[in-house]
Amino acid sequence: MFQKIKGTQDFLDLSLWQFITKTSAEYLNLHNFNQIKLPAIESVDLFKRSVGLETDIVNKEMFVVEQRTGSSEQICLKPEATASTMRAFLENGIQNLPWKVFSFDTLFRYERPQKGRYREFNQCNIETIGTESISQDVALISMLDGLFSTKLKINNYALVLNFLGCQNDRLNFREVLTNFLQASPNICETCQKRSTTNPLRIFDCKSESCQSIYQNAPKIINHLCESCGQEWQQLQNHLELLGVSFAIKPELVRGLDYYNKTVFEFTSSHLGSQSSFCGGGRYELATQLGSKTAVPAIGAAFGIERILLILEQIQDKLLLSQKPALTVVIPLNPEQNILALLVAQNLAQHNLAHDIILDDTSSVKSKMRKANKLGPIYCVLIGQQEQESNSVTLKNMVTSEEQLIKQIDLVSTLKNH
Ligand code: ATP
Ligand code: MG
Repeated sequence: MFQKIKGTQDFLDLSLWQFITKTSAEYLNLHNFNQIKLPAIESVDLFKRSVGLETDIVNKEMFVVEQRTGSSEQICLKPEATASTMRAFLENGIQNLPWKVFSFDTLFRYERPQKGRYREFNQCNIETIGTESISQDVALISMLDGLFSTKLKINNYALVLNFLGCQNDRLNFREVLTNFLQASPNICETCQKRSTTNPLRIFDCKSESCQSIYQNAPKIINHLCESCGQEWQQLQNHLELLGVSFAIKPELVRGLDYYNKTVFEFTSSHLGSQSSFCGGGRYELATQLGSKTAVPAIGAAFGIERILLILEQIQDKLLLSQKPALTVVIPLNPEQNILALLVAQNLAQHNLAHDIILDDTSSVKSKMRKANKLGPIYCVLIGQQEQESNSVTLKNMVTSEEQLIKQIDLVSTLKNH
């Protein structure tokens, strides 16, 4: 017997899943975001150049695909969607800005699997590409807040916010932070390494003792240039005016290197240690991917599996779309199979949900038992007598009432009930 690959999942009931994807897609369309579809494989270099060499995603979590000999380009299963979206934006020469798009992507990261963390997982990724206005950050964050609270009915979540400033701010802050780290000898080995290569990354450290040291670290929001300081203020003020509650988290840097200015996460106490279900921020990736001109953008992604974990706990309160009433067609003998198939074909042509019991060796009794398990409102019984009189026996499964009706009247009878 085969077993699923470590860190993957089988989903055997998609009703909640479809509630999430359908609700989100409709809501995003309402805000004039268009759905796109991206490839599952991309060049490894795309992520090295965008996500960053020092990040976990690139450094140790990539699913590199074995290539046929002769091909020099390394490819991988994509670990995130922003770099792909940006690649598609540049490659397709998109002109009308901002480009507002979203996609549902299956992503792969070689992580240690645990609740809410898998090696294959799914995201809804949303990007507004080609806009400098900090008001677009406000628009995106408040749109997400509306999606989570009013449409997906997630309760008890928090929005945490930080501001990483411009490149210059980070360069200056790097010095301030490095000085602090040099005076902190007890940080872990990874942080020590990062303190010279990419000091901001230290805030990602999972070690509790490092995190307690970083409580006293300098905060980048206290080292912003004048214009970034104003944007940071505006972001907070406008979110407040729109009624979006948030908390400031100075150590939030996110796991990818391409962010500048706004970064944010939505977290839920229902998720345990994998508490974040959505993350995003402002970034400039175009120049890193070879464009001559910079293209400022803002984006976010939420994890479908993590939202599933939250919604499973409040499933009863959600209005999930009801399955249509089912009719089950039962040929009593194999001789009636073809007539039953014709009847079923007719039901399909009239958009009536149905199933058909094609089980030649079972008794009528056991066919009825099988049909009953499918939860039908009506059963359509077809035996020799029905066949000879061009009729069917329609059995109401709620009242057990049976009536003999003409085959040509079946659709209208079912539709009128
Ligand atoms: P985390 O801090 O939990 O590792 P992240 O910062 O790596 O998340 P992003 O790359 O920003 O996450 O992706 C956004 C969302 O995708 C996360 O908020 C989460 O919901 C989901 N996600 C990320 N990694 C995984 C994973 N391995 N399994 C399931 N969902 C994931
Ligand atoms: Mg991660």
